[in-house]
Amino acid sequence: MTLRNSLVWFRRDLRVDDHAALHHALLSSRRVVGAFVFDTDILAGLPSDDRRVQFLLDSVRELDARLHAMGGYLIVRHGRAAQVIPALAAELDAESVFANRDYEPQAIARDRAVQDALRAAGRSLQTFKDQVIFEQDEVLTLAGGPYSVFTPYKNAWLKRLAREPEALRPYETAPHAGALAPAPADQALPALADLGFVANAAPIAHPGMTGAEALLAQFGQRLARYDHDRDFPALDATSRLSIHLRFGTLSVRRLVAMLQERIADGSGGAGAPVWLSELIWREFYMMILARHPRVVTQSFKPAFDAVAWDDGAEADALFDAWCAGRTGYPLVDAAMLQLERTGFMHNRLRMVTASFLTKDLGIDWRRGERWFALKLNDYELASNNGGWQWAASTGCDAQPWFRIFNPVTQSKRFDPDGAFIRQYLPQLAGLSGAAIHAPWLAKPEVLQEAGVVLGKDYPVPVVDHEAAREKTLARFKAIRDL
Ligand code: FAD
Repeated sequence: MTLRNSLVWFRRDLRVDDHAALHHALLSSRRVVGAFVFDTDILAGLPSDDRRVQFLLDSVRELDARLHAMGGYLIVRHGRAAQVIPALAAELDAESVFANRDYEPQAIARDRAVQDALRAAGRSLQTFKDQVIFEQDEVLTLAGGPYSVFTPYKNAWLKRLAREPEALRPYETAPHAGALAPAPADQALPALADLGFVANAAPIAHPGMTGAEALLAQFGQRLARYDHDRDFPALDATSRLSIHLRFGTLSVRRLVAMLQERIADGSGGAGAPVWLSELIWREFYMMILARHPRVVTQSFKPAFDAVAWDDGAEADALFDAWCAGRTGYPLVDAAMLQLERTGFMHNRLRMVTASFLTKDLGIDWRRGERWFALKLNDYELASNNGGWQWAASTGCDAQPWFRIFNPVTQSKRFDPDGAFIRQYLPQLAGLSGAAIHAPWLAKPEVLQEAGVVLGKDYPVPVVDHEAAREKTLARFKAIRDL
């Protein structure tokens, strides 16, 4: 034990178990205090009823309660983290601040500023791997560079895990909890209003560590069927754990260890390896962002920065129709309404809507990416950017650039009886068969019987898919011919 006082700075790791920074702080310090900052640099510009802020607050409350149960407490502040943390370290006379690494460019800049300020005062910032199994420099090609295609990355990731099973060893905290400093009497947590926010009418269910546990237990029952069911948005087939992985209310090491066990004992069926792949996609995109931070604003494949996306008043009107779920393509519209009303969108639908914006409407992926960033509960820069660039064919897709989803075919395949569409577009509920996927192709008597007047109850399509497809092929061919 070398330190007297330490501060554990919680950021996107809002849990007490299997926590690298907390573990190391407890092992190396006599007194450990936790802190969380509602960072005004991040909160500024969010809508006043942003669901994620409520989720964060609920999760922070639970974190505080869990630390209390272990004999410690959490200091919660509202301000610029880059200033609050060095000031708090001085206030507590903490020699060191412990934190888990965050790989987003803005977070890296913030941490550098904190480190500089701490250093200038004779203190230190110690950071740890916690958010991922393998960081950006740990899974490399034989030539020592980063991968740019998922499958070889995944194979190398799995090989490394087989060689290094200790990568999943939990960072225990409970056995070392004696180092937690007890709470002073006057400790109070802020309310939503203190942060300048109001409650959302449809908040995110299952916040905090308890919420993560509940979702994981439920998903455990569905895991074995995940490989098949995950593509059907009407089914409750995926884990819904993305927001928990975003805010670290559960440990990714624990998830991968659980998967390994269920693959080994056979109870994970065909679903477990597929779900593991999804967790590896998450790390793949984090690696891409860390190794190529230019992707935040530019195409992963630089040639595609020259794509001539549509802009101007007509594109603006089409973009507005896409955001509002008024494109006339039922699956696209139902998906956009799911996003608006719940803050969640099923993965298949993220691919369909992103493809529709870029390939059918010819609109720059960056506009769609920003819309998702504002609306998604689980918004994560790396995965969102990676998903958008994949859909726009400017990113890490091993397939060539002519992948263009047909929104009607996707609808027939993945929402075959229109159950998902009906959930968000009740005005189309009377349609069945092919008509619910493409109402404009339905016979007038079918529409009449279902009580649907196109252009009144539901929009006519804003674009013709075949014509849009030709336009997109020409748009991308122009790049290939450059
Ligand atoms: P599950 O199917 O249960 O998957 C388990 C976990 O694996 C997820 O929670 C997530 O952490 C990870 N994962 C799954 N699919 C992917 C993927 N394709 N890429 C990276 N990680 C994945 N995911 C986000 O977490 N935040 C985003 O902002 C985000 N934006 C996206 C934007 C687009 C255009 C696309 C195509 C995908 C995006 N994804 C994003 C990936 C994926 O859609 C979500 O992770 C998934 O839908 C979350 O639901 P779930 O937790 O039930 O996933």
